[in-house]
Amino acid sequence: MKRRLRRSGQRWRARKLNVCAECGSAVPSHIACPSCGYYKGRQVVTVEEL
Ligand SMILES: [Zn+2]
Repeated sequence: MKRRLRRSGQRWRARKLNVCAECGSAVPSHIACPSCGYYKGRQVVTVEEL
């Protein structure tokens, strides 16, 4: 009877994380690294550094 409760929640969490080649932080795949702006070896986002 409680089958419905099982699956919810897992799918959302299971996204793959890439490790940024530039700064080494974990970054969700298919987006640019939020901390350095690199994606697949290119800087695609300008990130201001202090
Ligand atoms: Zn990075």
